Amino acid sequence: MLTRPLAIVHYPDPVLRQRAEEIREIDDEVRDLAESMVEAMVCHDGIGLAGPQVGVSRRIIVVSPTGQSEDATVHLNPRIVDSGKEEVEFEEGCLSFPEIRGIVIRPEWVTVEFEDLEGRTFSGEIDGLLARVFQHEIDHLDGIVFVTKFGPVDKLRARRRLKKLEEAYAAQGSRR
Ligand code: ZN
Repeated sequence: MLTRPLAIVHYPDPVLRQRAEEIREIDDEVRDLAESMVEAMVCHDGIGLAGPQVGVSRRIIVVSPTGQSEDATVHLNPRIVDSGKEEVEFEEGCLSFPEIRGIVIRPEWVTVEFEDLEGRTFSGEIDGLLARVFQHEIDHLDGIVFVTKFGPVDKLRARRRLKKLEEAYAAQGSRR
């Protein structure tokens, strides 16, 4: 069956600012969504993708630190239950904000908890790139977008590009 990968929702679509709904039942819809999200993430060269980024306001994220589908994992209702005091800087990008990058400061390590597609609960401490991706994607589930965490210089630098995205979104709306 030939299907097109899920389209990525771009800023300033309001779904990106909503708090996503808990997933209470793991049914075919959730399993299909997970599969389509992995496909979309890999196809768009991402290393993480959250439900709202494909227009689905539910608490699901897919992660692949290598960007390869065989390394992709699916996490339902992920939450941060603990985090390190030490914070680190890292330059982030986001599929919902094409061509925008900026430094975001986040805890170096976090303890995360989530369910997998079989409904089993996992908990573990992660650091480095993986901790970075989880924090960025969990922010998406809470309606928080990374540009709000930029420092003043990166905010200024992103301004023109954000304006372009706003114009593109408005143009798309007037065609509907
Ligand atoms: Zn993102």
